[in-house]
Amino acid sequence: MGTFSLVQKSGVVAVGLRRRLVSGKPARTFLGCVVLFLAFLGLSEASYLFVFPPASNAVFWLPSGLTMAWFLRTTKAHWPAWLLVVFLAEVLVVLQHGQPPALAMAWGAAGGLLPFTGASLLRRRTRAGFVFRRPWDVARLVWLGAAVGAIPGTLVAAAASVVWLGDPSFWHVAIGWWSSDALGVLLLCPLFLTWTEPAPPRSGRAVEALSLLVILTGGAWWVFGSVRPREIESALPALLFPLTAWAAIRFGPRGATAATVLVDFMAALHTSRGRGPFAMGSTSVAARVLTVQTYVSVLNGLVLLLAMVVVEEQKARAAAERAEQRMKFLAMASEILSESLDFTTRFAALARLCVQSMADWCVIDVVGEGGVVQRLGGAHREPGSEALLRQLEEQYAPDATSPHPAAEVLRTGKPMLLPLLTDELLQAHAVDAEHARLIRALGTCSAMAVPLSVRGQTLGVLSLGCAAPGRHYSPADLELATELARRAAISIDNARLYRDAQGAIRLRDEILSIASHELNTPMTSLKLDVQTLKRVAAPSGEPLPPSLTRVERQIQKLARLIEELLDVTRITTGRMHLQIEDVDLPALVRDVTERFTEDFSRAACSLTLHAEPSLVGRWDHLRLEQVVTNLISNGIKFGSGRPIEIWVGQADGAARLTVRDHGIGIPPDRLPYIFERFERAVSSRAYAGLGLGLYIVRSIVEALGGSIRVESTVGSGTMFTVDLPPAGPPHAAGKEGER
Ligand code: ADP
Repeated sequence: MGTFSLVQKSGVVAVGLRRRLVSGKPARTFLGCVVLFLAFLGLSEASYLFVFPPASNAVFWLPSGLTMAWFLRTTKAHWPAWLLVVFLAEVLVVLQHGQPPALAMAWGAAGGLLPFTGASLLRRRTRAGFVFRRPWDVARLVWLGAAVGAIPGTLVAAAASVVWLGDPSFWHVAIGWWSSDALGVLLLCPLFLTWTEPAPPRSGRAVEALSLLVILTGGAWWVFGSVRPREIESALPALLFPLTAWAAIRFGPRGATAATVLVDFMAALHTSRGRGPFAMGSTSVAARVLTVQTYVSVLNGLVLLLAMVVVEEQKARAAAERAEQRMKFLAMASEILSESLDFTTRFAALARLCVQSMADWCVIDVVGEGGVVQRLGGAHREPGSEALLRQLEEQYAPDATSPHPAAEVLRTGKPMLLPLLTDELLQAHAVDAEHARLIRALGTCSAMAVPLSVRGQTLGVLSLGCAAPGRHYSPADLELATELARRAAISIDNARLYRDAQGAIRLRDEILSIASHELNTPMTSLKLDVQTLKRVAAPSGEPLPPSLTRVERQIQKLARLIEELLDVTRITTGRMHLQIEDVDLPALVRDVTERFTEDFSRAACSLTLHAEPSLVGRWDHLRLEQVVTNLISNGIKFGSGRPIEIWVGQADGAARLTVRDHGIGIPPDRLPYIFERFERAVSSRAYAGLGLGLYIVRSIVEALGGSIRVESTVGSGTMFTVDLPPAGPPHAAGKEGER
């Protein structure tokens, strides 16, 4: 086993011990008391290694680092027990050193005050305990835990020294106590905190960790262990900064705390024995102590800060990478979902995409017609295991009552996350033992099922399973699966809406076709009857009775509407045939405008017609009449009381007809739609019509090989421009056909 994995292992042990201690059982609390007591005694003995003779107290009081970390890591309910243990341990240590019992009691109380004050300040606003992961946490630990937290205990201990030991200077003692307590916290507390914090597993760094350990130990020994002064002696301690920074950058907070503790111990140990730059540079013991303490505080503070910054940066990078992968995955899923309208193909591809990245198997169940659940996609990372998926589908398809997670999600519409699929959970969600066996055979250690929901409806379920024993689905995975399921649900919904819309359009066209044919027959005989009535009412050309004129006009209107409907049916069914012949466009336009004379005067519209004498092309006479009639009647309808201008001539090698009015105009947002079926830019209450005229006009013009465009300004008027190739439609055959 490499050094680094040993180091990792000890971290795991520390985390496990901590978990056991905070879990709250009396036996464990007792175990905690014993461990704390023994560790306290051990560390207090170790602290005496760092005494600078002739001074008698240690430069760092190591138990303070231990007790602070202990109080920060455990629940407050245990604090009374820990306080008692710290008190007893401290009393024992003091008595062992031959001090009076009253002093031992006072110092015992001071020993408990330090972690109590520091931990209370640090945990003030956090219910979950003190977290030691961000740069800000280092600053808080230094300031609140070490600097402020050490004050009350220090004052008590210094007062006791003055009273029972007769120390002449209260402040001198207090400052000595305070600095060694605070440094004890700064030194050991981060070490305990980082090594009891779960850390991401890393491997493959054993050689690097071992090299660093050797270099750092050798380096620190070389820097601090020299007995003869070297020329640059005072600059040498700075050489250890990059080495500890290396530990922080490469091995995070755990590496940083381990490296700093090693350097701190070396510095204090050698200096106290009169070796190295700090001993040689400073003459008095007090100055040596202060130099070591300053060095240790600066080194620890900076290296810890660096480690936390590195952690933050790694976290941010990992989050960005995860987000990018997530985006890529969702983009690929969207592409698959938009590729075809066929669910089976789409969902099979989607399931395959899932098993390439986020799952070992994936199935997609969709509720079909009549509430029957159909499996539309199923894939396994190992193609050989897909037979198992098929067997599961055949034998245990989720239905309304089964305990299957997919069935439960269908019932509740809520996602289900099973991070660790234990045997009990598996039994609870399996129909029978065989079902459970098949699910295990798929290799399921963790699973999740998310609803395909859209517009408050659950259309199906996406189920994912993962087989790697160490990999468990997390809430973040569930979130990704939910987003994927949402997109899949939208695609199902869109496809269904599209299918329904197509059906509705087909039905509408059928009804229109039947209705227009059925209406046309009575309309033809009605027209004949009106002609007969006219002859009877005015046999020798006398003026017609007004009622009969009205009837005739209404019948013409009705006939036009029916004709429009019939034309639309012909266009949509491809039955609009053209009769191509030589047509003189100016003559045709003049004919049509003459027929409108009465309408122009009724609508108070003046007409200006500019037409070339003759412009002949291969077109369909009656259909062209229809085009001109539609454009002029729209001009009259929407430009009532204003002039209308018509121009017929040649432009760009084509025959051009423009019809311009000065009426209400068309709003720009409606312009792109007015040539579509049933599209209108006005309300039907204000202007009668079906919204079919321009659709028919465009269809005729395009069938003749030409084009039509519109320019319009609201309030100023509209101009339609029709361009027709004189040679007629590209494949003009001049066939007779249904009109
Ligand atoms: P209809 O006239 O029966 O509504 P059309 O297909 O002929 O149907 O026209 C579609 C829509 O285009 C009309 O409802 C109207 O809003 C707009 N439109 C057409 N011609 C004109 C025009 N000359 N001036 C203003 N709006 C027009």
